[in-house]
Amino acid sequence: MSILVVGSVALDSIETPFGKKNEILGGSATFFSISASFFDKVNIIATVGEDFPKKHLKMLRNRNIGTDGIAVKSGKTFRWEGRYEYDMNVAHTLATHLNVFQDFSPDIPQNLRNSPILFLANIDPDLQDKVLSQMNNPKLIACDSMNHWITGKKGSLEKFLHKVDIFLLNDAEARQFSGEANLLMAAKAIVAKGPRSVIIKKGEHGVMYYSKREHFIAPAYPLETVFDPTGAGDTFAGGVIGYLSKAGKINDATIRKSMVYGSIMASFAVEDFSVNRLLDIKMPDIDKRYSDFKKLTRF
Ligand code: AMP
Repeated sequence: MSILVVGSVALDSIETPFGKKNEILGGSATFFSISASFFDKVNIIATVGEDFPKKHLKMLRNRNIGTDGIAVKSGKTFRWEGRYEYDMNVAHTLATHLNVFQDFSPDIPQNLRNSPILFLANIDPDLQDKVLSQMNNPKLIACDSMNHWITGKKGSLEKFLHKVDIFLLNDAEARQFSGEANLLMAAKAIVAKGPRSVIIKKGEHGVMYYSKREHFIAPAYPLETVFDPTGAGDTFAGGVIGYLSKAGKINDATIRKSMVYGSIMASFAVEDFSVNRLLDIKMPDIDKRYSDFKKLTRF
């Protein structure tokens, strides 16, 4: 199958206890697409400014990621500045400069409207709905969101979620969205609101999948070095959706495996700044962590 991802392509400035980097490649669609590209064909829909370094587009194309849907607009690229403390589960946003991303409202090119799998990263839920309305019946619709939309556009998000197969969000967002402190109760409450299933990401504590039929948990891949958690969630989503696309069928077994691949991809992303580590690895590195994962969780 093939995947269409709609989200941000950004320049990030990041500070962690281990260092500081300015204007490095980031954005939800970037992390997602590089991660998913290990498994299947991905096309990106995003917008960047004229200042966006061409080398990044070239790198994506060299990985067989479709970039025709990245519109280069006059103005500056979206920039995000973030800081993490020793507890790297919490990102502090220092600044968000939307720039050309402010007017992001894509017309999906005709040849991409038949993409069987659609991943809508954390954009305005009204925009997520607008994108979906242009598609020709995708087989799998997954989306992410964030605290900003949960607070500011809860009604739109709730309406949109009825159309979604897999809704991904982190633990703090799940508690905020559901009003439930307990994560299992939160997952149940979220599924009762409309999406067919929910994946709650708990950072270094792993992930939980919940649907009316199935409940599955996976730990995070244990790492000694976590350098920069930026993009872990989107990289996780890229592994999940990429694997499901490659598997060609969505059932309990493939969903379980996809969560493990998502966790493995995220474990690589956090080992270096930006997408650096993801650009370093090959499929045997992923396979090695997959078999480690099996050994670590067998009992
Ligand atoms: P994650 O750590 O997976 O939640 O995603 C981090 C990425 O999201 C960074 O590379 C940012 O460029 C991007 N990002 C941060 N804030 C926003 C926003 N408001 N809209 C879209 N993308 C964002």
